[in-house]
Amino acid sequence: MASYIGKDPIIVAGAGPVGASAALYLAREGFDVVLLEKEKVLPEDLRASTFHPPTLDMLSSLGVTDRLIQQGLIVPKYQYRDRRTGEYAEFDLGHIKSETKHPYRLQVEQWRLNKIACEDLKNYPNAKVLMGHGVIRVQGQDDTGVELVVGTEDGEKVIRGTIVIGAEGANSMVRQTSGLTYGGFTYPEKFLVASTTYPLDRFFPGLAAVNYISDPDEWCVLLRCANLWRVLFPTTPGIPNETLISDDFIEDRMQHLAPKTGRYQIGHKTLYNVHQRVADTYRKGRILLAGDSAHINNPLGGMGMNGGLHDGFNLCEKLVSIRKGETDADVALDRYDRQRRLTATKFVQDQSIANKKLMEEKDPDAQKKRQADFVRQASDPELAKKFLLKTSMILTLRESYTIQ
Ligand SMILES: Cc1cc2nc3c(=O)[nH]c(=O)nc-3n(C[C@H](O)[C@H](O)[C@H](O)COP(=O)(O)OP(=O)(O)OC[C@H]3O[C@@H](n4cnc5c(N)ncnc54)[C@H](O)[C@@H]3O)c2cc1C
Repeated sequence: MASYIGKDPIIVAGAGPVGASAALYLAREGFDVVLLEKEKVLPEDLRASTFHPPTLDMLSSLGVTDRLIQQGLIVPKYQYRDRRTGEYAEFDLGHIKSETKHPYRLQVEQWRLNKIACEDLKNYPNAKVLMGHGVIRVQGQDDTGVELVVGTEDGEKVIRGTIVIGAEGANSMVRQTSGLTYGGFTYPEKFLVASTTYPLDRFFPGLAAVNYISDPDEWCVLLRCANLWRVLFPTTPGIPNETLISDDFIEDRMQHLAPKTGRYQIGHKTLYNVHQRVADTYRKGRILLAGDSAHINNPLGGMGMNGGLHDGFNLCEKLVSIRKGETDADVALDRYDRQRRLTATKFVQDQSIANKKLMEEKDPDAQKKRQADFVRQASDPELAKKFLLKTSMILTLRESYTIQ
């Protein structure tokens, strides 16, 4: 029975949410693990902030969820709003309380998870976190391991591992230099995210902490974290990046959204490309991909990081069972590829593309119908539960484990 787990450590590339939590999982299970992070200091970027219920259930097995909750905001209800009429449908995650220990979304910045996991890794003598170590390329793999060429401030070094998990995000060098393709497309428009401490709920009566707001002219997503509001807008293709990210442009968009006297104080602002891509395979021998290095999607619905964390847990569970001799490594690792890749292609890609289409619907009749559908589902406990099981990724996750 193939095992693949030898004397060298498991190497995890990338200390984002997926890599850092996978490394912590493996360290807690007693594996020798090396976590490589390109940056010298963990970045605090404004990206994911929504943790779904099954992800919180998983992270609690690492002892992390309570600390995320302390730093974040519990959101038991979220809304789909029609900006023109002010009408909204509110979904109450209490409807799925029999299915999860965390029947709410947690709004907390993803970098806080990276920090907690890297801090916890210090407690494990079998784990090493190497900051300022960026994977340059996969040098090769043989019967006993994989070699990576890694760039450091002292020059290049070769690091050998028994298995490599490429979790270094969309530009993964593990993926690219293993010759794995990342098929799909990039939308022509960019998304703009800005944060403000101004209480936007003053402008929208009854506003929840997570809101998808449709409008034929200007849809947006409004998300609250512990002490700020994040606003996500689409932008028009062809406008130069310098204009889109300028203070005046953002001010104009904010004033259009929620007019007020005086300028908005903007904290973070980020402009980014939006992709829908999935790698053709998540496995090449001893090399495995997880998280954004394996799949990427638009952020509507908050499924990128959550799906990536589900990859990491699925893979780590399989590594544990391989080490125990319960399963053949090739069978288990190929199953990992199928379970997580099919989930990304069949559910996450389709759902996130559909979410974007719904948000940008310009036909007033179609928009009215969409809003009426949401209201109908949100107000019927059975329909609401069905809807929430899907959108919170509980169903996807369960279905992924049924794929052989
Ligand atoms: C605006 C925005 C909002 C989003 N909101 C949500 C949300 O609410 N919910 C959700 O689920 N998802 C959301 N996403 C998606 C989410 O941010 C990503 O899916 C998530 O960051 C993926 O995590 P990761 O660990 O795979 O990769 P990353 O977070 O990209 O982490 C990769 C890590 O690897 C490091 N690295 C890069 N190259 C190398 C290298 N060569 N060698 C070593 N280290 C390297 C990086 O420095 C980084 O630390 C959002 C994305 C954006 C842009």
